[in-house]
Amino acid sequence: MHHLATSPHKISAKGYSVFSKDSKFTPFEFTRHPIGEHDILIEILYAGICHSDIHSARSEWSEGIYPMVPGHEIAGRVVAVGSKVSKFRCGDYAGVGCMVNSCGECEACKCSHEQFCQRCVYTYNNHDCFHDDEPTYGGYSNNIVVSERFAIKVPMNAPLEKIAPLLCAGITTYSPLKFSHLQKGQSLAVAGFGGLGSMAVKYALKLGAEVSVIARDDRKKQAALDMGVKNFYKNTKDITERFDLIINTIPTKYYLSTYLKLLKYGGEMAIVGLPPLEMNPHISAHELVHHAGCKVYGSLIGGIKETQEMLDFSIEHDIFPDIELVRADQIDEVYEKLTTSNANFRYVIDMKTLK
Ligand code: NDP
Ligand code: ZN
Repeated sequence: MHHLATSPHKISAKGYSVFSKDSKFTPFEFTRHPIGEHDILIEILYAGICHSDIHSARSEWSEGIYPMVPGHEIAGRVVAVGSKVSKFRCGDYAGVGCMVNSCGECEACKCSHEQFCQRCVYTYNNHDCFHDDEPTYGGYSNNIVVSERFAIKVPMNAPLEKIAPLLCAGITTYSPLKFSHLQKGQSLAVAGFGGLGSMAVKYALKLGAEVSVIARDDRKKQAALDMGVKNFYKNTKDITERFDLIINTIPTKYYLSTYLKLLKYGGEMAIVGLPPLEMNPHISAHELVHHAGCKVYGSLIGGIKETQEMLDFSIEHDIFPDIELVRADQIDEVYEKLTTSNANFRYVIDMKTLK
């Protein structure tokens, strides 16, 4: 481990990529931009697999940029720092989520909602406007260069493999619970009980809510009850209770009006799931007006300040995802499970297995 001063050299990297929307993952060698004054180089030790990776790799939202190395749930060790870096030293643990840079000057950046900056650079499947528009490559790889502003501090005694999924699944569910000011004793339903859904359940229980899960079969019922969930519904049909808040994480086709009807007067629904564009759920003005008094909003990850807050909160209260470690050559297998109702909550690539 050594201290690299700011250097003009590109960084060699290797990982797994897809070359088209229907290709399989294969090993891929590439370079990352040089370590700038404010950048750090992280040796990636673990990378979570998010359903967004599948949507992106398969061009389900828009045409992807290929070759694509997905992965935006990154945890690892700092191995080099630029000359002006102040937050990290070599050897520290660090996490990276969905963003690697932004302008730092606009209104969104000033209030740490960097995800809404016009020049926000996403961790992969994006062009980096701060580095000659080069394509960004994500966490299914051995390293990443990132502006220190976008790296999250992780204490050295943290379980790093469980930290990785917090960088997307954690913040994306923590943020709307805070935005809606979920109170002790309020009723919350989590629709879609996968990687994001299970984190929403854990945070909401810690905040003192009465939590229900809405899934599409009974497969994870026992897991939900073990977590402390009050009611587990395998579909929306038999639900008679009404909720103060619904966090909707569903990544497939569904009808928004069905969920709108489950809100109490004054209830709110945060939509975080992003189904493929061809099955994008719609909501009509008429339905909204007939459920007057309810609010429906979308929520996109969370800013860097809130991501650090979420991580500190998770560690303080011992709230971590249920994970299964996989090898780097198992990514296709994991995607298959996640799209055929056969998956566990979160899969995390152990980067030691990257050859
Ligand atoms: P997972 O695949 O881990 O979990 C999705 C869960 O939804 C699964 O348990 C699945 O059940 C369930 N589900 C699927 N269809 C239905 C349905 N019709 N009714 C009820 N449950 C259903 O995905 P993630 O948690 O990783 O991601 C969820 C979504 O959130 C994705 O679309 C992803 O792109 C999006 N996302 C959005 C972010 C944001 O910033 N807004 C950030 C991160 C992710 P089963 O096990 O049966 O398949
Ligand atoms: Zn994600």
